[in-house]
Amino acid sequence: MQPRRVAVLGGGPGGLYAARLLKLAQPACEVVVHEQGDRETTFGFGVGLAAGTQRKLEAADADTLRDIRAAGRRHDMTMEVGGAVARVRNDHLIGIARTELLDVLQRHAEKAGVQLEYGSRRTADDLDADVVVAADGVGSATREAGEFGTRVETGRGLYLWCGAAFALDDAVFAAVDTGHGTFVTHAYPYAPDRSTFLVETDEATWRAAGFETPDLDADGTDARSLDHLAAVFAGHLRGHALIGNRTRWTRFRTVRCDRWSDGRVVLLGDAAHTAHFSIGSGTKLAMEDAIALVAALGEEEAAAAAFARYEAERRPAVERLQELARRSRLWWESFPSRTHLPVERLMVSYMTRAGNVPLDRFAATSPDVVGAALGQYAGVAPVVPGDVTGWVLEQAAPAPGGLDVAETVVDAVVDDPWGPEADAVVAGSAGAAAVRVVGPPDRSALLTRLDLAERLRLEAGAVVTVEGPPELRDDLAAGLVSGRADRVALVAS
Ligand SMILES: Cc1cc2nc3c(=O)[nH]c(=O)nc-3n(C[C@H](O)[C@H](O)[C@H](O)COP(=O)(O)OP(=O)(O)OC[C@H]3O[C@@H](n4cnc5c(N)ncnc54)[C@H](O)[C@@H]3O)c2cc1C
Repeated sequence: MQPRRVAVLGGGPGGLYAARLLKLAQPACEVVVHEQGDRETTFGFGVGLAAGTQRKLEAADADTLRDIRAAGRRHDMTMEVGGAVARVRNDHLIGIARTELLDVLQRHAEKAGVQLEYGSRRTADDLDADVVVAADGVGSATREAGEFGTRVETGRGLYLWCGAAFALDDAVFAAVDTGHGTFVTHAYPYAPDRSTFLVETDEATWRAAGFETPDLDADGTDARSLDHLAAVFAGHLRGHALIGNRTRWTRFRTVRCDRWSDGRVVLLGDAAHTAHFSIGSGTKLAMEDAIALVAALGEEEAAAAAFARYEAERRPAVERLQELARRSRLWWESFPSRTHLPVERLMVSYMTRAGNVPLDRFAATSPDVVGAALGQYAGVAPVVPGDVTGWVLEQAAPAPGGLDVAETVVDAVVDDPWGPEADAVVAGSAGAAAVRVVGPPDRSALLTRLDLAERLRLEAGAVVTVEGPPELRDDLAAGLVSGRADRVALVAS
């Protein structure tokens, strides 16, 4: 279609990128971005952009990506627990200040001929346009006012998004135990003098530390929490303070919508869907949506058909990432329960938490970490065998094909291995010396079963065997090294 006028609601990464790509593809179309904030002010600190995202942005708009890369900062990734550190090299992961990213996107949008209007909050109904792209973020008022079949799932854990005025050497995941409980940081450098410093914790720790009642400064930042956390992470912060920007404790909201369009309005980015911050994909999803929406508008005659094409193209990728993000969120929310693992095994657990990185692929890129983890798991010197999965399965005490006499069978299909249903299963297994966790043969069920098994090991203290089909032996092997199971049983379905 060739819209005469397109209004973009929201000048975040998704809205600005969609506006530029649309103006480049359809120069005759009038494209206006309406942003409620000032041009220079934004929330947050840095965002991360991984290699796959950069490849997609390169294909869509090499000029913009060049400037994003120039403003970004590459870093490796480290996990640190109890003073021990594991490092994973990553040549293509960059952190970039959200302000810098928006500056690049604003400049490129204007260069293409997009009009940017700042400083007034608008609604879709206000806007005279053939198409309204609602890129108005996670709290989208457009989404709330329309018929999109919205569902919001709120995470159990709490997090604060802070910054620090120095560049860390690498991205750091670090856990600190305090008298109140464990705080974990996800931190990474994004400028020569800046790092993102996100801190998360569980509700019990948050309450025990007295954070329930915020102590807000003039900017709306919970200054008392920042001071407290700066002391907790003093070693990692090298004496720097934590910086806020309207920063207060939040629970992550995962947004899902049954439909992404309603009449002439189409949702994009966080307005349509969110994915937990621990997979660092919100900006990526918003910018990839922009690419697909602009292509669909060019390929179809009518708005409804273009929106349907856009949604059909994007929904599978978005839902796949939301499922990875859900597993990742659950892993981080339960993180304190596994800090007893040696740091390399913890890194394997992290990399395999959502079933997205096979153990043998991780071994090929990080042989030092995986070699150490395999050695720790089997009680031998570090080793990277040719067939990692086969080797791991050989090390585990063999589980009998049939039931051990003393085994209690757990055959529970739960959605959330740390939710109330799973709590009841774990409580019901208290006192069992050996447990066999069985269930459906599909991969999603097996990954959840491994998570439940990990809880049974840690909380019920049982020796836990997990059953799974032979074709998912890679997941079972990763589960053994990660401490999710003591034994596995390959059972053909
Ligand atoms: C703690 C945390 C860490 C994150 N880390 C990462 C990361 O490492 N990598 C990553 O890719 N993503 C990360 N994200 C996610 C990322 O910030 C968002 O997913 C991304 O900004 C979404 O882009 P967007 O354009 O859809 O929406 P936003 O960036 O939220 O932009 C929406 C814009 O719309 C404007 N707006 C809203 N309503 C109106 C209105 N009525 N009128 C006019 N303007 C309006 C807002 O002011 C805002 O500027 C993180 C998020 C959080 C919370």
